[in-house]
Amino acid sequence: TQPRPRLPRWMKMNLPKGESYSKVKNLVGKHSLHTICSSGNCPNIGECWNRGTATFMILGEICTRNCKFCGVKNGKPLPPDPEEPGRVAESIRIMQLKHAVVTSVDRDDLPDLGASVWVETIRQIKATNPETKLEVLIPDFQGRQELVRQIIDAKPEVISHNLETVERLTPQIRSVAKYRQSLAVLRTIAESGSVAKSGIMLGLGETEEEVVKTMDDLRDAGCRVMTIGQYLAPTTGHIPVVAYIQPEQFERYRTIGLEKGFSFVESSPLVRSSYRAELHAGG
Ligand code: SF4
Ligand code: SF4
Repeated sequence: TQPRPRLPRWMKMNLPKGESYSKVKNLVGKHSLHTICSSGNCPNIGECWNRGTATFMILGEICTRNCKFCGVKNGKPLPPDPEEPGRVAESIRIMQLKHAVVTSVDRDDLPDLGASVWVETIRQIKATNPETKLEVLIPDFQGRQELVRQIIDAKPEVISHNLETVERLTPQIRSVAKYRQSLAVLRTIAESGSVAKSGIMLGLGETEEEVVKTMDDLRDAGCRVMTIGQYLAPTTGHIPVVAYIQPEQFERYRTIGLEKGFSFVESSPLVRSSYRAELHAGG
């Protein structure tokens, strides 16, 4: 086996601090709220919470898929919890978020793949938090465009769907999702006039040429916002990191992306798909 690369200094994170961060942290503790920011140990928690942004996961915590990069549990999920949409909407209110990001596990077990729960969650968030900008990071809904349209019709401010990696590596990295099908989902979002956003992780063995090709494919689908971050293996049982990409290379990708016509490209080692999400809401 090849030796694994060591974590470079630029991947080390600072302890989160700041007044708003502390306030949000206290509220989260007091009301036992559940965010991906804390449960996933996200390196950006200080920065995001200080800015009034947080991410929630819906449709339970067990995914029907098993992607090689992902730390979410997989198996047979529980039936959807009818209280969940209200709970997420209320958490956003208590945390006084300016920008909320909602994502979900994949529910290939449900007849509508979870679309109706998505729609109800968006509806309740908007009803309880009319000022909060909402970004939804959706699954591929197996490419069923009528389900993607239900999300579009619920009118979140931004709709994201991640490609996660370049086309060649997709079958090794994602368990079910297909690169071209994900592009079709993004195209449906963009053609509706909604802001379409996508993201990839680097350090999985992709070449620069492949990353640039991915940008072209995303632009061709009408995608306007892109995030690029370093992949980190959640455990040693997950697909290992092939390389830690230099910060200068991330910067290069950002420049290339902007030249290709993206409105926003967030590209640096610690970027996660919801990082600085508030900057491109409505953009
Ligand atoms: Fe939360 Fe996303 Fe920010 Fe991480 S990047 S702290 S998950 S909002
Ligand atoms: Fe993780 Fe999403 Fe893959 Fe499920 S479908 S394993 S939540 S990346």
